[in-house]
Amino acid sequence: MEKLLKELEQYMDEQVPCVVCNNTEFTKWASQDYLHAMKCDECGMVSVNPHFTEEGLDKFYSGYYKNRAEDSELSNLRKKMYVEDRNWIQNHVNSGKVLDVGCSDGSFLSFFDNNLWDKNGIDLTGDALDIAREKHGVSTYCGKIWETDVGEGYDLVMMRGVIEHFKDPIIVLKKCVEILKPNGLLYITATPAGNSFAFNVYRHKWRMFTPYEHIHFFTVDLLTNVLREMGMSSLARHYQYEETPYANIDNDYKKIRDDIIKINKEKSLDSITSSPPFPGSMITAVWKKFE
Ligand SMILES: [Zn+2]
Repeated sequence: MEKLLKELEQYMDEQVPCVVCNNTEFTKWASQDYLHAMKCDECGMVSVNPHFTEEGLDKFYSGYYKNRAEDSELSNLRKKMYVEDRNWIQNHVNSGKVLDVGCSDGSFLSFFDNNLWDKNGIDLTGDALDIAREKHGVSTYCGKIWETDVGEGYDLVMMRGVIEHFKDPIIVLKKCVEILKPNGLLYITATPAGNSFAFNVYRHKWRMFTPYEHIHFFTVDLLTNVLREMGMSSLARHYQYEETPYANIDNDYKKIRDDIIKINKEKSLDSITSSPPFPGSMITAVWKKFE
């Protein structure tokens, strides 16, 4: 990993305007190695900026699926979250044509009933898509969503832990809205929330601050502002915590309390270990396309 990060340094891009409001004034928010998250002075959006070029990102993600698939304990916990995430969205829509953007090997889609859903997925990794197609009956598309024809007339387009990875999330959202039916739903979940309590306390020690892969830290309100312009309205939101296998209510609250006292006393995050899971850290939300 360290070698790759060193190599990627030569793929650093120029700083770009805020993805939400186009403003170009920022305040430094959190840093790791040579990457810096900047907070927009106008709208409060936090993004790692500058980030890598598309070429650099392609290089970073070329081994991603393999690394992720190997960790089996993590993948068991993730399965519990797939069920939570599926149950939540099925309160709003429970059948039809679905596209999972960043579907990987189709694991999340595998929790959707074959008789109720026409399952489609797009990802960059051919190996993972083979599994999605052969094992889980997903119709697959290989490529980047904004330049790939994935059909249209979707009842549901979903991104699970995905939107924060795109360098330009706006063209991704535009494409998602375009391919939805009128009244279709856009579902974003398992996405780290900017301006959350834990991110405000822990900054670069927040466990979701992994700036090589997580480029953008939206809030539900900022996403709603962006999506309203594209013809979507906010339907529901939720912040998962207690129902997740990661939560340990007593320990998490105790740690965050003790750390706040320590940070105040030491005026530094140096002796603080990374943040615990905490309410408000992860976004789960759904938007509906106007008729
Ligand atoms: Zn902004």
